[in-house]
Amino acid sequence: MITPVSDRLRHEAERLALRFRCEECAHYAEERAACGNGYPVEPHRGVRLSEVDEVTFCKEFELA
Ligand code: SF4
Repeated sequence: MITPVSDRLRHEAERLALRFRCEECAHYAEERAACGNGYPVEPHRGVRLSEVDEVTFCKEFELA
């Protein structure tokens, strides 16, 4: 789901230490820089909320 990134989201994500990136996901295979479930990682890997106007959250994300 594509979500607009507002200043409020940025502040709340920082305050709550929101984790959503592939690098923070239990399904991420770091040695292959790929998703263990076969999903594209480009929309979620290395995303910095301070640098984007929208973000695509992954429905399969599981905190590592
Ligand atoms: S399940 Fe989603 S968040 Fe997790 S590694 Fe795969 S694409 Fe990234």
